[in-house]
Amino acid sequence: MNQFVYLDNSATTPVKPEVLETMLPYLQEEYGNPSSIYRKAAASEIAVRTGREQVAKALNADVNEIFFTACGTESDNWAIKGAAFANQNKGKHIITSKIEHHAVLHTLEYLEKQGFSVTYLPVDAEGKVSPEALSGAIREDTILITIMMANNEIGTVQPIRELAAIAKEKKILFHTDAVQAIGSLAVDVKELGVDMLSLSAHKFGGPKGVGALYVKKGTKIDTFMHGGAQERNRRGGTENVAGIAGLGKAITLATQNLEEKTKKITALREKLIEGILATIPDARLNGHRTDRLPGNVNFCFRYIEGEALLLRLDAKGIAASSGSACTSGSLDPSHVLLALGLPHEIAHGSLRLSIGEQNTEEDIDYVLSVLPGIVNILRMMSPLYPGE
Ligand code: PLP
Repeated sequence: MNQFVYLDNSATTPVKPEVLETMLPYLQEEYGNPSSIYRKAAASEIAVRTGREQVAKALNADVNEIFFTACGTESDNWAIKGAAFANQNKGKHIITSKIEHHAVLHTLEYLEKQGFSVTYLPVDAEGKVSPEALSGAIREDTILITIMMANNEIGTVQPIRELAAIAKEKKILFHTDAVQAIGSLAVDVKELGVDMLSLSAHKFGGPKGVGALYVKKGTKIDTFMHGGAQERNRRGGTENVAGIAGLGKAITLATQNLEEKTKKITALREKLIEGILATIPDARLNGHRTDRLPGNVNFCFRYIEGEALLLRLDAKGIAASSGSACTSGSLDPSHVLLALGLPHEIAHGSLRLSIGEQNTEEDIDYVLSVLPGIVNILRMMSPLYPGE
């Protein structure tokens, strides 16, 4: 069987043809360095300027508030370390949630080694951070709050506007990792009231290796990448011109007709969730039932390992993802699922299917035709399975 169904759009997305077309000239004839002053370089300089305008427009930000980076991870690192080091004279306490991406959590672990203290807010059983818990964790020396807009594993969407308002009232900087949100949720930095926001092009039809950080005018953050005068002296390094052009085009496309697109994807999600619940016993949906990314489906299937499931799905031409970190050689259960209160043995058996714009009803039908059988076979092989 040659069928291939890609359901790992939260890991990365295919580059859209229009995005590739926008990028190609800057990988071919328009190779000038945007910092050079001769005419040959003008096209590159215009491409960077256009990309910045497109990102600013999509986020409802000012062009001077957009800084290009190499990825979402760099944007998170810069926002968090930059704000921490620039404001440490006011205090050294930072608040986050237990379910952030490692780009945030490992950055904070590093800062803890540098003398900062971090409060990791718990989440409820559906993965929500409570505004009351945030208010209660704020201290005199709190300088930064960083909470993701939507979780990459379970899809739960956080009440960012409410959380950012609490930070604002206390004059504390607020950063959100919106890497999973762009192209799936409406993101308006003014409406959200955030000071910093991270994004990454490859999550919404753009190329890998380019991201951006929104930094609200007047926000005090240190330079992260020291070097040349690029990005208004804030982030040295010759610009990834083709990547920036691609990011600009991708964010423009991803934010167009958002409601219509998310409606279609949400319908596919619901079909998949309902189908799994109807055909597979002992299946647990992780994350919030409705307040979740339109394309996110995350289940735990009792008695089986996520990795074994992925391999069998792959053999059937289905690309999906699991929460536990098999690739690292360890079989640690996902920190996100543990934070929901799931016991270790259940947290090992998770499957994330993330739907994108290119997916169809036939894709979902295909998954529903093979997944119950695979789960059943793996359970039969499991020494833990008590039988039907
Ligand atoms: N933050 C979140 C929520 C993510 O899902 C990811 C990628 O999976 C990242 C940050 C890192 O982005 P990048 O791959 O561009 O470094």
